[in-house]
Amino acid sequence: MLSSVTPLAQAPPAIKAPDWTKLRTEILDRYRALVQIDSTAGHETLVVDYLRKVLEGEGIATKTFALDPKRANLVARISGNGTKRPLLILAHTDVVGVQREKWPVDPFGAVMKDGYIWGRGSKDDKPVLVANLVAMLMLKRLGVPLDRDVIFLAESGEEADLAGVGINYVVREHFADIDAEFAMTEGGGATNDGGRVTRVNIGTAEKLPARARLVATGTAGHGSVPRLDNAIVHLAAAVEKIGRWETPMRLNDTTRAYFEKLAAISPPDNAATYKALLDPKTAASAQKFLREHSPSEYSMLRTSVVPTLLKAGVGANVIPSEAEATLDIRALPGEDIGKFYAEMEKVIGDPAVKVVPIPQTRPPSPASRIDTEMYRVMERAAATMYPGATVFPSMSTGASDQAQLRAKGIQSYGIGPAATESDAINYPAHGDVERLAESSLYPFVQYVWSVVTEIAAHK
Ligand SMILES: [Zn+2]
Repeated sequence: MLSSVTPLAQAPPAIKAPDWTKLRTEILDRYRALVQIDSTAGHETLVVDYLRKVLEGEGIATKTFALDPKRANLVARISGNGTKRPLLILAHTDVVGVQREKWPVDPFGAVMKDGYIWGRGSKDDKPVLVANLVAMLMLKRLGVPLDRDVIFLAESGEEADLAGVGINYVVREHFADIDAEFAMTEGGGATNDGGRVTRVNIGTAEKLPARARLVATGTAGHGSVPRLDNAIVHLAAAVEKIGRWETPMRLNDTTRAYFEKLAAISPPDNAATYKALLDPKTAASAQKFLREHSPSEYSMLRTSVVPTLLKAGVGANVIPSEAEATLDIRALPGEDIGKFYAEMEKVIGDPAVKVVPIPQTRPPSPASRIDTEMYRVMERAAATMYPGATVFPSMSTGASDQAQLRAKGIQSYGIGPAATESDAINYPAHGDVERLAESSLYPFVQYVWSVVTEIAAHK
């Protein structure tokens, strides 16, 4: 629990520190108000209406960009003296849907119970949204002089954006309004272990969805007459080969630093595994261990290929002329996808089976660097906010709207409030039930403030 102000040692003396104890009520009220808005896809403008009222009520001008009037995006800016390029703080406003019968409380009630705030969006992504909002309000109220503009973006359609109403639209049509040197948004997190935050991870990279279909073709015929070119048999063999294929391991700056740091704080057995990964002579056995015991870390090592759908056949007595499987491929940053598909065809080694790429909505994006001023500021702010915690860079095996920003050359970093391991498993983002510990909310808002002022305030 946070009981007093924790100022950043490096914060310039000119900045007045907010009274965090006094601000708690406002933070909680605004956070709950946001969670109480049912902003599933198609209702994001309800959040924009709330934000516009709050921001403009305090004299911060806003702009609204909407491809779909029900799914608007909102931008606000607090200007600096222009010595440095802007900082973009963004969060998505939409939430995934709910199955009401699974919830012990109203999923849009922001009910407070057992020390938690319960509700859809309570983790994904309304903590980041409220932290960014509070940062804007406090910059304005305290009149913090800035060396760089701070841009606030609330974007729609992060969870489901087939129409491209969110980040794709803003980047394409209104990039000048959000162009920045650095960005900060969801995509990181922190682990609370026994009442103390022991790890903070800063998201610096993510894999790229690069899905493909395997399509096998053969001769159609009667089920009573076996054929060598049966499409299902060819597809099954191809799926088997590709499903067992061990794609090459490749570390980048982020994952190397991640495993190095993990080795330093893990119990001896695990530490040995992580260290073994970093040495080409011992990497194979370490990978084998992770494949069995830690699939998500295994996925961080390579471009992964996972069969997820099968489709074939029209009747029990009919040999179909076509059979197909969908592969969820997640590529490492920098992977040459064309070459990778060609490699897959070689592994399959069957001219009857073709690899057909599925068009993607996200661009390839490079990892953000871990030697920038922004990364260092975030690392320092995390260490100050959560004393004794180890701070890691991390690569998500999933995909986020940071891809579009990184693809435009913005160095973008992921953050998130702290959760216990068990809470992260039992009440995750997108889970049946979502909740956030109230005690995680305030330090997180303060962490965001520390980063924003440290990177943007006039020195
Ligand atoms: Zn999210």
